[in-house]
Amino acid sequence: MTGAETLPWDEQRALDDASYRTQLSYLFERSAFYRDKLGAAGVDSAAAAGGLDEIAQLPLTDKHELRATHTSDNPVGTHLCATRSEIVRIYSTSGTTGSPSYVPLTAGDLDNWVTGSARSYAASGIAPGQRIVSTYNAGPFVAGAALAAFERIGLCHIPIGTGNTERLLAAIQLLRPDAAVLTPSYAAYLVEAAAERRIDLRHSSVERVLVAGEPGGAEPGLRAQLEEGWGARVTEAMGIGDIGVSLWGECEEQDGMHLGARGFVHAEVIDPQTGASLELEDGVTGELVLTHLRHRAAPLLRFRTRDHVVIRTSPCSCGRTGPRVRCLGRTDDMLIVRGVNVFPSAVREVVSGFAPAVSGHILVKPRADGVKQEPPLPVSVELAEGASADATLAEAIRDRLRSVLVVQTRVELVPWGSLHRSEYKSRLVEH
Ligand SMILES: [Zn+2]
Repeated sequence: MTGAETLPWDEQRALDDASYRTQLSYLFERSAFYRDKLGAAGVDSAAAAGGLDEIAQLPLTDKHELRATHTSDNPVGTHLCATRSEIVRIYSTSGTTGSPSYVPLTAGDLDNWVTGSARSYAASGIAPGQRIVSTYNAGPFVAGAALAAFERIGLCHIPIGTGNTERLLAAIQLLRPDAAVLTPSYAAYLVEAAAERRIDLRHSSVERVLVAGEPGGAEPGLRAQLEEGWGARVTEAMGIGDIGVSLWGECEEQDGMHLGARGFVHAEVIDPQTGASLELEDGVTGELVLTHLRHRAAPLLRFRTRDHVVIRTSPCSCGRTGPRVRCLGRTDDMLIVRGVNVFPSAVREVVSGFAPAVSGHILVKPRADGVKQEPPLPVSVELAEGASADATLAEAIRDRLRSVLVVQTRVELVPWGSLHRSEYKSRLVEH
């Protein structure tokens, strides 16, 4: 662990406040997007914007606003600040609307990304000299930058890529890595794939499973299933393409992810409905909002991540300071059933409590388009291998969903193997 990670949080905050004020001056000087946006909000200089104590008075930035400024002359958007010669890398994020968003980085930005990512992954307890097998395709996506973090930590990195299960299982058996990094969906898929091939994953060399790329790695049911299946400790990491790769990483205490990108990124939590800023108190839940503090290529201010998180502020015995987060789901996946917010990942978490009768795979099947749904919400729940449908089980699941999540559902039990398994990221909602 680096000394920077144990700095008392008020000292970090003072450093961040100075970085933020410099970042604001840079935005007013170079960012057409933020000059316009802040000017429209009546803030016409960095001095007028103040410091981190005043940040909640500034407008939020939504991904759609950035996208609206894309042109063929400026495909990045008007938040681009760096000149062509300053940019050393351009990643893309997978846009749901078809056209990608580009994420340019200067050499300094890229170095900060790797530093933050290395801290986040090192928090898992993996140590220099150990071997890690990775399943991310570098490709066009920001995950490629995380791979450089493994070198920075001093690991031996064995890249396998996505969707190559035979090669991955062979590498685990022959090269004996200490850790594997993958999505929680793929980690779950591999437990089944190894069992089918009579490979004893639980007694393999892998002692740490580092999950990232989608929410779910900290759901108690799924985590228990992965720890059991792999015979390994599971910790998670999280980033957001437009801000940085693997910004957050969980330590061996497994009680939320520390901000590995501390000093580079400032975190806030808001009420996703009203946009109101919430105090970073223990147990508060809301949408994570992130601000670059030392970014040059295309810095963002109060960017809405669409990640719905719960905050932990109790001291962590690992010694890392600052608030921790656990991701509960994406606000994009959220449904509102008669006024109640329902995250499909929360449905899965409740259903997983019925293991070993269920497999842990679910599919929420909204009857209407859009976010708002009338009860009962249909949910398919997959039975465990060899289990048969049983009306009392369906009723028990329905009752527990109603008492825990305050949502009325119609639970349909489906046979083992009938819901789709993903070698990358799971879809928990049928669209
Ligand atoms: Zn910790």
